[in-house]
Amino acid sequence: MEKETLNFLEDINGLFYLTAPDARDIMLRFHKEMGLGLAGKESSLKMIPSFVGRPRGNEKGNFLAIDLGGTNIRILAVRLDGEGRAEPLAMSRYPISHEAMTGTGVRFFDFIAGSVEAFFKEHNIEAKRLQNLGFTFSFPVVQSSIASGRLISWTKGFSASDVEGEDVVELLVRALKRRGLGFIDVVALINDTVGTLVAKSYNDHICDMGVILGTGTNAAYPEKIERIAKYQGPRHQDEMIINIEWGGFNKLRRNIYDETLDASSFNPGEQRLEKMVSGMYLGEIARLIIVDMIKEGLIFNSPIPEIFSQPYGLTTEHLSLAAQGQISHELGFTHMSQTDKDAILEVFRIVSNRSARIAATAISAVVTWMDKKIESNHVIAIDGTLFEKYPGYSQNMETMLADIFGDSAQKIRLEKEKDGSGIGAAITAAIASYSKNKSLIARLPWLRHR
Ligand code: ADP
Ligand code: MG
Repeated sequence: MEKETLNFLEDINGLFYLTAPDARDIMLRFHKEMGLGLAGKESSLKMIPSFVGRPRGNEKGNFLAIDLGGTNIRILAVRLDGEGRAEPLAMSRYPISHEAMTGTGVRFFDFIAGSVEAFFKEHNIEAKRLQNLGFTFSFPVVQSSIASGRLISWTKGFSASDVEGEDVVELLVRALKRRGLGFIDVVALINDTVGTLVAKSYNDHICDMGVILGTGTNAAYPEKIERIAKYQGPRHQDEMIINIEWGGFNKLRRNIYDETLDASSFNPGEQRLEKMVSGMYLGEIARLIIVDMIKEGLIFNSPIPEIFSQPYGLTTEHLSLAAQGQISHELGFTHMSQTDKDAILEVFRIVSNRSARIAATAISAVVTWMDKKIESNHVIAIDGTLFEKYPGYSQNMETMLADIFGDSAQKIRLEKEKDGSGIGAAITAAIASYSKNKSLIARLPWLRHR
């Protein structure tokens, strides 16, 4: 590689590398924001009460779930055996079309209800036997109960009209009725992070965090109710899961590439951590660096592949495949010199490594919030394609944990919880339908004697 290219890459590495002291500083700021968020004060961490605690493991029955992520919608029927096993009986996945994401709210919820209908047809399920549904809606929602909540603002490129500020369960119920699916009872609304934590802790009682690393990124953890200063509702249990909405954390040092990406994004200034970490953005960060290298004449004597000239043309999937040696034709690698390829792969490595190190730092902040000196073991349930498929991503996270905590890092286990966000919705539906029956019994005392 030419000396200029090496120098450039070294500078980029300097801009993107997160050291252990950087991480400790971020953790302190994170704790401060968590405290402010829990107190209901101005904070970049919304710290949203979910109205559920972790499951006991004895929840039982068959439940429906909708898992609306950022890229796909999944519909599931899940059987809970009451002994910690949750088995998907059927599952379908449909891509969310651009029209559904960016059209009217009615169209968006009609798409969801249509997916439920298609699921019933596809699996030949006798719909009426499955009535209780848990809805995983992976956007920032302020909940007012276990089955209601208003969307604060869209993220991840969604913009369907007339949904912000509305109760998304009400909108879903109306759409289900329009499709003749009014018998479905939407009993629980949760965030995907909450779902991931709930799914894992159904059979693993030491799990105390759910993390998403997919199109977006976020996390949830169980908080002692008395520490949630802003929560005024009923206190049936001593803990409640908090949806951190950590994608919004804004106390990270940004570089010129982060600022450029943010400025031309659909939500400038918002979701700053998410824009440095999640799958939606890593490709674009890498592309902006490569565009700079091209401008400085460091790479490409050959024609510049189209993918590098279109905003968001380069995706995280491209980075991931290239890192696995599955060199993509679209990247123009077939006509490229070895040194150009090496330079590009190094950019991908730098960008994805920073993502993993920030994610691990945020996890460290939450773990030390719960357990200052890491005296207990912690299982972190993680869902999302970025974590699952990016080569070396979880190892990079583990390296960062070791950089921060030394030997104590061994007490923190990162575990994949595939489809946790959907299964968790079914488990939460079980918890909710149980308390629904209980409150019915409380209201109708004569029922108790039957
Ligand atoms: P969602 O966030 O919608 O629930 P996923 O967890 O499946 O969905 O994440 C999808 C995101 O994962 C895509 O938007 C993309 O950024 C990223 N991605 C897709 N394929 C890969 C891959 N092979 N390796 C790493 N990341 C990927
Ligand atoms: Mg998801």
